[in-house]
Amino acid sequence: MIVAVAWAMMALCVQPPATGDAARMPTAAQDAPAKPESPEGGSGPSVAEVAALERLSPEHPEGYLLAAEDVADAAVGAEGEEARRLRALAQRLYVLAFELDRVKGRPGAVAASAVVGLADPVLEPVASRRTWLLAIAGGISAQYAAADWNLAAEGVPSDEVAYRAATLLGRLRAGEGRDARKMMEDPQVAAVLRRYERAIGTTGMTGALTRLDRYMQNWPCKECRNDRFVLRVSDRGAEVRLCPTCRGNPGPVLSEEELIGQLRFEDSLLSGIHDSWAAQTTVDQAAPLRDPDPEAVAPAYGVDAREAWYRKGKWVARP
Ligand SMILES: [Zn+2]
Repeated sequence: MIVAVAWAMMALCVQPPATGDAARMPTAAQDAPAKPESPEGGSGPSVAEVAALERLSPEHPEGYLLAAEDVADAAVGAEGEEARRLRALAQRLYVLAFELDRVKGRPGAVAASAVVGLADPVLEPVASRRTWLLAIAGGISAQYAAADWNLAAEGVPSDEVAYRAATLLGRLRAGEGRDARKMMEDPQVAAVLRRYERAIGTTGMTGALTRLDRYMQNWPCKECRNDRFVLRVSDRGAEVRLCPTCRGNPGPVLSEEELIGQLRFEDSLLSGIHDSWAAQTTVDQAAPLRDPDPEAVAPAYGVDAREAWYRKGKWVARP
C-alpha cells in the first residue's frame, strides 16, 4: 500500500510543469535510452520504486504481481513518456509473476492473476490479444475460463453429434420446433451448440442460442400446426385456404445474414469443426487469435523471464 502511494505520488511528481505544450514535448535527453534506467528525476524510477523493485525475489512471484498492480495503477494517472515507462514496467512485472509462478508444484493462482492483469485494456489495447491472454488464464484457472474455453477441455464432438446438431438447425428452419426441442434435450448436442454459439451467427457475438430457443417456442405454426393450410367455414361451406400466419411456409423468417451464418455453421459442423485451432478460428471468425500457449506470453512482451532480479537499474539473471 505504501509502495502504491509512493509510486502514485512519484507518477504525479515527475510530470513536467504544465507551462504549455512545449513543456510536454519529449526532449533529446528524455529520449536517450539510459534515461529511463536512471534513479534520479526525469521519467526514470523514483528511489522508493527502485527499492521496491530490488526487494523482489523470484521465490515470491506474488511480490511481482502486487508490484505490477501498483505500477499499472500509477500508469493510469501518468502521461506521455512516464505513462509508457510505467506501462512497460507493469507488463514486465506481470510477465515475471506469470513465469515465476508457472512452475511445477504451484497452484498457478498468481500466474492466472498476472495474465489477467496483462489483459487490462490500459496495458493491452488490442482486443484480440486480451482475448488470447484471458484464454491462457482460463487454461490455468477455471475461475477465469469463459464458457467456450471450458468446453474446449471436454473433448471434441463426434461426427454423429455434429451431424445431429446440424440437423437440429435444419429442422428449426423448417419450423419443426418440437423436433428441434427434442434434439436439444441431448446433452451432447446442446453442448456443441453452446460451445460454438459464437460461430452460429455472423458477428461472432453470443445470443444465437437465445434466438434458436425463441424459434423453438414459436414453431410449429400456431395456426395450422405446419399443415400449411386452414379450413374456413363460409356461406359456401368449408374452404381450404393458405395459412394466413405462415403463408404456407412454416419456420422463422431469417435475415440473409443469419441464414448464411447458419448454413456456414452447418458446413463447419459437417466437415469437422473441431479439427484444429485453425478451424476453430475460422468458425469463430478469428475471435481467439491464436493458441492459448503460455510459452508465448514472455516472447510476446519481449521479456526474458530469466532476468528476474532488479539490480543497479537493470533486470539481470542473477542477484
Ligand atoms: Zn401456418
